[in-house]
Amino acid sequence: MIPTSFEFYPPKTDEQRDQLDRTAKKLKTHAPDYVSCTFGAGGSTLDYTPETVERLHHHHGLDAAPHISCIGGTRAELGALLTRYKAMGCRRIVALRGDLPSGMARTGDFRYATDLVEFIRREHDGFFHIEVGCYPETHPQAEHALADLKHFKAKVDAGADGAITQYFYNADAYFRFVDDVRKLGVTIPIVPGIMPISNFSQLRRFSEACGAEIPRWISKRMLAYGDDIDSIREFAADFVAALCQRLIDGGAPALHFYTLNLAKPTQSVLARLS
Ligand code: FAD
Repeated sequence: MIPTSFEFYPPKTDEQRDQLDRTAKKLKTHAPDYVSCTFGAGGSTLDYTPETVERLHHHHGLDAAPHISCIGGTRAELGALLTRYKAMGCRRIVALRGDLPSGMARTGDFRYATDLVEFIRREHDGFFHIEVGCYPETHPQAEHALADLKHFKAKVDAGADGAITQYFYNADAYFRFVDDVRKLGVTIPIVPGIMPISNFSQLRRFSEACGAEIPRWISKRMLAYGDDIDSIREFAADFVAALCQRLIDGGAPALHFYTLNLAKPTQSVLARLS
């Protein structure tokens, strides 16, 4: 079976905590390589993310990797967070720029994820395995696709050990991206980020914000099912599993699932993979 990792967001209420506990328990049966926990840029989850990482690690026995988003943060804040993660025994960090919530205008010491990767390398050389984000369909704020590739290469040169992609539903975009960055001399693993579908309207909103394209034929099929939730879930699991199978057959080194703290959509996809 291909190596997998599962991404969670940090719960803030007891109800959300219970849900994450149930999900982690179920997904643990798939023996993930590691799990990761997102971080709100600007510090909105400054305590929730470490608490969740601690819980996933000690309560669930999972290798848990914190995300760190640097935008709006100071060197001192991010340095303290890294020291905290080191003391907790975390060896893997997902290093990102992040997007400040609208209306928050916090100046920070870091402009791009490359600055954070350099900082982690400088302060903790070799201790952390550093994953970064990448965008087969181009980051929405990039000047153009080639500039985005160049910036990604700079981030890798700064010291990233691996990359996880933004989710996509077009396998060719991933294969093309991998070919393009290999030509630039990037050799680190590029792991596809997979977004199983549980709520199509929410997915449409996410996709508009992050620049992931939902192919027209998929939107049309989803619309045709109307309120027939069972058919939507079956169809979504079938086509996301077919995407995963194509990625595996084409040489993807692992799959990283954006779980949104739900077990079922990810499990439905995994159950369909050979
Ligand atoms: P960067 O690599 O810094 O790139 C951002 C933009 O700046 C790109 O358009 C790039 O081309 C451009 N750029 C980079 N360097 C330069 C330069 N020197 N000059 C000019 N332009 C430049 N967000 C969160 O807030 N919390 C999370 O936990 C989180 N987890 C994520 C996990 C994954 C796997 C992915 C793919 C994304 C995640 N995000 C998260 C979203 C991410 O923070 C946003 O996509 C953000 O807009 C970009 O982050 P980045 O680290 O890719 O940024």
